[in-house]
Amino acid sequence: MIILDGKKTSNDIKEEIAIEVAELLSSGKKRPHLAAILVGNDGASETYVNAKVKACEKAGLQSTLVRFEDKVSEEELLAAIEQINQDVSIDGLIVQLPLPKHIDEMKVTESIFPEKDVDGFHPSNIGKMTLNLPTFLPATPAGIIELLTRYNVETSGKHCVVIGRSHIVGSPMSILMARNCDPGNCTVTLTHSRTQNLKAITKTADILIVALGKAEFVNADMVKEGVCVIDVGISRVKSDKTKSGWKLLGDVAFDDVKDKCAYITPVPGGVGPMTIAMLLKNTLLAAKSKS
Ligand code: NAD
Repeated sequence: MIILDGKKTSNDIKEEIAIEVAELLSSGKKRPHLAAILVGNDGASETYVNAKVKACEKAGLQSTLVRFEDKVSEEELLAAIEQINQDVSIDGLIVQLPLPKHIDEMKVTESIFPEKDVDGFHPSNIGKMTLNLPTFLPATPAGIIELLTRYNVETSGKHCVVIGRSHIVGSPMSILMARNCDPGNCTVTLTHSRTQNLKAITKTADILIVALGKAEFVNADMVKEGVCVIDVGISRVKSDKTKSGWKLLGDVAFDDVKDKCAYITPVPGGVGPMTIAMLLKNTLLAAKSKS
């Protein structure tokens, strides 16, 4: 069994980005700049945004965090996005989701200039991804593709089962794995909450990508020998074994499943750090595509 080490791989990627940033600067170009908008003070969102800002520093990217109270109006938020869209010093913009209920998330996503949409959520970028055209891939699916690439996991002709059909993970993941490229060329089954006989399907998976948000949902009984398991889930559960009183669990019961796997990602230290690394890579790409 091989652990797909997202922590190490993401550090490698951040070092590669830092080298490219140094090259940009020495050729007289400016430092790539990511702006992040955070609305409210949800604990998980704060953690994610802070991790993104810290990762920018590590890779030599400039970052700007713009904060709003959770009662900010949609109009005010859209005006701030428009200001960043017009700001030539900023290459990439992300708005941390979820947003308060009174704000239309799709309207916000669509208001970001596609060429600054380094989260890859804009319908225009999703369309380009589907057509296999150059674009910003959504960061989590892109991180999974990068892990499969760097660990030389064979995907062509394999059966890939994806659990979860969210717009940010499951759905784009299923599209990427079916594309005519490497990694890709899989026969893909996209499963979701209405899927019947899920276990019968997951047991046929050569590659199982799990993104449903239910701690330790997938057990050894649901997978076949030699499977490659990618665990996207992050659930914070109470624990009396950690100092903080919390621990993070994936959607896969790691200890139960690992011995049947050819490859598996751990939680934490698997897909999570890769997501952030790919966001930085997209920001670098956005900066380079302007120069
Ligand atoms: P979501 O919450 O938007 O959607 C969950 C999906 O799971 C839905 O499509 C639903 O149909 C499906 N589902 C629910 N119950 C099911 C069941 N019993 N059987 C089959 N399918 C079922 O999902 P999301 O935003 O993609 O998040 C999923 C998990 O991934 C969460 O734990 C989230 O925190 C985590 N996540 C991690 C990263 C990362 O960087 N590691 C990034 C994004 C999300």
